[in-house]
Amino acid sequence: MTVLVTGAAGFVGSTLCDALLMSGPVRGVDIFTPYYSRALKEGNLESLRTDPNFSLVEADLAESPLEEALEGVEVVFHLAGQPGVRPSWGREFQNYVRQNVFATQRLLEACLAVGTVKKLVYASSSSVYGDAESYPTAETLAPRPVSPYGVTKLAGEHLCELYRTNFGLQTASLRLFTVYGPRQRPDMGFSRLLNAALDGDTFTLYGDGRQTRDFTYVEDVVRAMIACARSPWCGVANVGGGSRIDMRSVISIVQALTGPISIVHESPAKGDVRDTAADIGVAQSAFGYAPSMKLADGMRVMFEALRHQRAVSA
Ligand code: NAD
Repeated sequence: MTVLVTGAAGFVGSTLCDALLMSGPVRGVDIFTPYYSRALKEGNLESLRTDPNFSLVEADLAESPLEEALEGVEVVFHLAGQPGVRPSWGREFQNYVRQNVFATQRLLEACLAVGTVKKLVYASSSSVYGDAESYPTAETLAPRPVSPYGVTKLAGEHLCELYRTNFGLQTASLRLFTVYGPRQRPDMGFSRLLNAALDGDTFTLYGDGRQTRDFTYVEDVVRAMIACARSPWCGVANVGGGSRIDMRSVISIVQALTGPISIVHESPAKGDVRDTAADIGVAQSAFGYAPSMKLADGMRVMFEALRHQRAVSA
C-alpha cells in the first residue's frame, strides 16, 4: 500500500514517516516553507533520506501539479500547513489561507482526480474550539476559534467533510492538542523553554502561567493517525494527551531537568486560548486511541533529543 504524508519534513510529519516506514514504503511531500529553518527540517529527514523505502517530492500543494506525488496512493496523511496562532493576524493571514485552506482544497481535488485514495487523515487542531464552554471539550461543542489560524484549520475540516459527503472521499479530521516531543517546532513553548535553558536565555511567558494545555506526545499523535487511517471510521475526533496542566507546573517540571530558567512575563497574546482539554472518547471508541506518555517522561525524552541534536551539529 502506498501512503503519502504531506508536510513530511515538519515536526509531526517526519515523526509519522518514521513510524509508517516500519510497515512499508512512504512518500512524503513538502515545500520547505520558511516559517523555520530548512536546516532543522533537513535534520528531521536525516534518517528518512537514507531509507530506500522513503521518497520525497518537493512540491507546493497550493501550486504544483500533484499527480506525481499522488500516483498510486491509497492513504493520505495531510499535515502540510502553516502553524502558529500568534502570527496569524494581519497581512500574514493570506499565507494561512493559502497553506491551510487553498492547499487543502487542491489536495482534495487531486485525490478525487487520481481515484486511488481510500482514506485521507487531516491534522486539524484544538484551536478550532477557541475558549470552549466546557472542559474536557467534546466534538459536539460548536467550534468558535479565537484566532485566524483556528479559522483556517476549521475551514480545512469543513472541506474534508464536503469532499466526503459530496464525492465519497473517505476523510477524517483529528483535532491535535498541543503536540510536544523531539523535533518540536522552534516557535512552540517547550522548545523555547528547553532552548532557553540550554542557552542561558530568558523564556517569555505569555499570561499569568495559570493557563492550561492538554499536551500530547508526538508518538501518541502518530499512533492515533495510523490507527485512524486503518479504521473505516470517518468524522472529527479529538487527540489529546489525557492530562491537563498549567504553564507554571510545566516550567517547574522543565526546571527540575535543566536547572533554573529566567522568565520574562508578557501579557497574553491575541489568539491564545485560556485553556484546552480534550475529551478523547470518540477517538477511543472509533479507533482505539489511548495516550501512553506521561508529561514528565516525554519532556525528558525531548530534552535528551535536543541535547543530542545540539552536540552533533556543534
Ligand atoms: P511544521 O511546520 O513542523 O510542519 C508543516 C510542514 O508543512 C512544514 O515542513 C512545511 O514546509 C510544510 N508545508 C506548509 N505548506 C506547504 C505547502 N503548501 N506544500 C507543501 N508543504 C507545505 O508543523 P507541525 O507542528 O509538524 O504541524 C503539522 C500539522 O499539524 C499542521 O497542519 C498543524 O496545523 C497541525 N497541528 C499541529 C499541532 C502542534 O502542536 N504541532 C497542533 C495542532 C495541529
